[in-house]
Amino acid sequence: MPRKVSEKSAAAKKKPAKTKAGGSPGAKEKSPVGRPVASLAAQRPMFPEHDAESGIAGHAAGGTGTALVVTDVDNTVFDWVRYYTTAMQALFDRVHGITGIPVATLASESRDVFTRHGSIEYPFLIQELPSIAAHFDDDIDRILCEVVEPGRAAFMQAAESTLLPYPDVPEALAAFRKKFGTRIPLVALTDAPRYVAMWKLSKLGLLKYFDAVYGLPDPRIPTCGKAGRVKVDPEILLKHLQQSSFGFSGKIRILPDEYEKPGTRGLKTVLMDYELDETPEIRHRVVWIGDNPRKDIALGRKLGVTTLWAKYGVVTDKRLFELLHAFSPIENIHKNAAVEAVASGGAGQSSTAAVQPHEPDAALGSFAEFLQHLVAG
Ligand SMILES: [Mg+2]
Repeated sequence: MPRKVSEKSAAAKKKPAKTKAGGSPGAKEKSPVGRPVASLAAQRPMFPEHDAESGIAGHAAGGTGTALVVTDVDNTVFDWVRYYTTAMQALFDRVHGITGIPVATLASESRDVFTRHGSIEYPFLIQELPSIAAHFDDDIDRILCEVVEPGRAAFMQAAESTLLPYPDVPEALAAFRKKFGTRIPLVALTDAPRYVAMWKLSKLGLLKYFDAVYGLPDPRIPTCGKAGRVKVDPEILLKHLQQSSFGFSGKIRILPDEYEKPGTRGLKTVLMDYELDETPEIRHRVVWIGDNPRKDIALGRKLGVTTLWAKYGVVTDKRLFELLHAFSPIENIHKNAAVEAVASGGAGQSSTAAVQPHEPDAALGSFAEFLQHLVAG
């Protein structure tokens, strides 16, 4: 059965990494479950073809080359905007077909739900929409059966053809593993809820390449105001309660909400966990890849890691931006995507500032180019 990796590992018993003053999460920082952040440097390699003796070299081995690769997920390893707008459109169309509620109403109400939950990917959307509750007279059984499940099915069907890695990503990660084994760990750091991030990486077929996934807390389960009853299908509820990790055997770290990018504390925690936060020289041996200049690149520069800008991930399609903006405020969009000045009018104007690059060490024309920036040693 998939499991959430326990902190009670041998690695977890090590003392937390030393920290610097000023902005550091601190050695006494508690994880959301109240346990101290622990070193991952002693984590066992997960790839069968890996030479176990080499372990995770990193700082502990006193190397001079690349010690760690950390990558963002959305619009860095896959086209999140295309996937999500397509899947949400399919969901809205199906819900409209069932209820007759205008798509514009569904989209408008979705903005409120996503804002309230602080995530454009809040997965229990339909049952939280006021027009749905009114249409079914708050009959949660009918809502779950007659509209939530069909809406979810439409979303999933659309995701089948759109939730795909950028074409060169699987090949690049396979090449990365072939060349470096687990001598250079690979970490995913995302502002998506942990469950959603792992679901996406699993669907993308990429989860197997990662040693660790760092995400934000799992989404809250919606309940009825009257009886306090859970508004989720029992089977899906069980998956969430079990905190399914999709068969992932690496490390899972749920960061507090306030560790969200562009704050540096998420990446700082990764550096500390891998004991790569000691000096500027050591931090520069960490490669950080992200698509969002305002968030990813800026925080990488602040921490002094080698920062690679996934330039190809910036949204330039006006139509996709407008679809996104129909059901999410601009602040939420910026959590998931860097948006170029693609839209005219109010929304576009407010997005312009998002694309000022913060001088990455290098810009990537495709994901695979990150391999050129790794240093053996
Ligand atoms: Mg991104």
